[in-house]
Amino acid sequence: MRSMLIDGKLVQAEATIGVVDPSTGEVFENVPDAAAPDVDNAVAAALRAFPDWRDRTPEDREAVLAAVADVILGNLDELSDLLIAETGRPRGLAQFELAQLAVGYLRYYGALRLAPEVLADEPTRRVELHRKPLGVVAAIVPWNAPVFIACNKIAPALAAGNTIVVKTAPTTPLTTLRLGELIAQVVPPGVINILSGGNEAGAALVDHPDVAKVTFTGSTETGRKIMAACAPSLKRVTLELGGNDAAIVMPDADVKAVAPQIFAFSFFNSGQVCAVIKRLYVHDSLYDAMCDELAGLASASKLASGREADAQFGPVQNRAQFDKVRGYVEQAGRDGRIVVGGEIADGPGYFVPLTIVRDVSEGHAIVDEEPFGPILPVIRYSDLDDVVARANASPFALGGSVWGSDLDAATAVAARLESGSVWVNQHCALDPGVPFPANKQSGFGVEGGIEGIYPYLALQTLNIAKNPS
Ligand code: NAD
Repeated sequence: MRSMLIDGKLVQAEATIGVVDPSTGEVFENVPDAAAPDVDNAVAAALRAFPDWRDRTPEDREAVLAAVADVILGNLDELSDLLIAETGRPRGLAQFELAQLAVGYLRYYGALRLAPEVLADEPTRRVELHRKPLGVVAAIVPWNAPVFIACNKIAPALAAGNTIVVKTAPTTPLTTLRLGELIAQVVPPGVINILSGGNEAGAALVDHPDVAKVTFTGSTETGRKIMAACAPSLKRVTLELGGNDAAIVMPDADVKAVAPQIFAFSFFNSGQVCAVIKRLYVHDSLYDAMCDELAGLASASKLASGREADAQFGPVQNRAQFDKVRGYVEQAGRDGRIVVGGEIADGPGYFVPLTIVRDVSEGHAIVDEEPFGPILPVIRYSDLDDVVARANASPFALGGSVWGSDLDAATAVAARLESGSVWVNQHCALDPGVPFPANKQSGFGVEGGIEGIYPYLALQTLNIAKNPS
């Protein structure tokens, strides 16, 4: 059985949780189920490790983050196998998450250097602006990109001089726990602690009085609870929550050219990504052609366990999400017309065929809500001002995109969207050096880019009088 990493040691908990293979629906491994004493031990270890880590040079900290990245690359096959087993995703996607995303963010934040800013330097005074680490960071991670999201919190937190306790998602703990086992010898004890456990372990971690900051990625519903739990002690909090990204296809778009990209960014990781296309608005003049093109692409793709070499799309990751997505598919069939997919077998595994539904609009759950699965609503529009207003009329504002041949015209429409990230002729293009902001109820406290390290630092002004009398 896999172990948790606490204070540099590999430890078990009193109870265990079964890990289910989403391709079969069967438990294939057990992991520790952290309880309150385990959370206490992890936070205490992170607190003890903090002064030494805080006082290390940026170069020392970069070396440790680089060592974690090297461990991922040096064990890529083993870690990919585990990620495939617990998520069902194809190998290429598992390797992309580990070797590109996780490693890319670890390296980017390791190399980042922040110098104090001088705000005033006059004969009588000097004022400097410093940024100081906060202490122990609690990182709560979801199941859809477990290792990347953990590393996207570990990297800026540690680069800023904090120590961290990561709580993995209940259904995808394996790869992150294995990473913890592999890095036990390369990270100073207590600097990174990794717990597996349920929602209660997450709540205990958020509530812990010695946690200075909480960074959470997950559903908007849980984000609200976490924000409320941070209120009594005014803990700093970063929330990366749900999305309902709109994509707008302009009247001048070349359907055959853009459809494969739109398809790829709608069904990436079987739609289980916060910032994939979840509402596709297509101009009236291209509507039928786009529906047909996307349906053709969906019919030609292979849905299978990621263990199969030719799998292109895997199952939904867990039973609860599978039931939720099935509900959306059934309702969408009543609200609109399913042009491909829609037939969900009762097992084995949590497979949902790529599903495209047309003739739906606002007021239908598949358009208004975030299904977080492989189903795409295609919505008709005829007026650009109207479609911009409809795209913005959502409580979510994570990502959005505009697709067209005239780049200036598409860019002008993109600039009117309210989401944190806006793309033209692409979607969900992540880059460690580019901030990934979340607006409205998609969250706040940005990740990515230099802006992504600031939420892990407290501002301090140092005010020096030069000529004391
Ligand atoms: P979730 O909110 O159910 O769970 C996320 C994590 O929170 C898990 O580790 C869980 O155990 C923990 N948790 C649950 N209740 C808690 C509590 N009261 N206190 C502390 N921790 C608690 O989310 P999920 O279903 O795992 O993830 C899917 C959601 O995540 C989607 O809505 C998706 O859009 C969102 N997401 C957002 C981003 C982003 O960057 N904005 C990225 C990925 C996923």
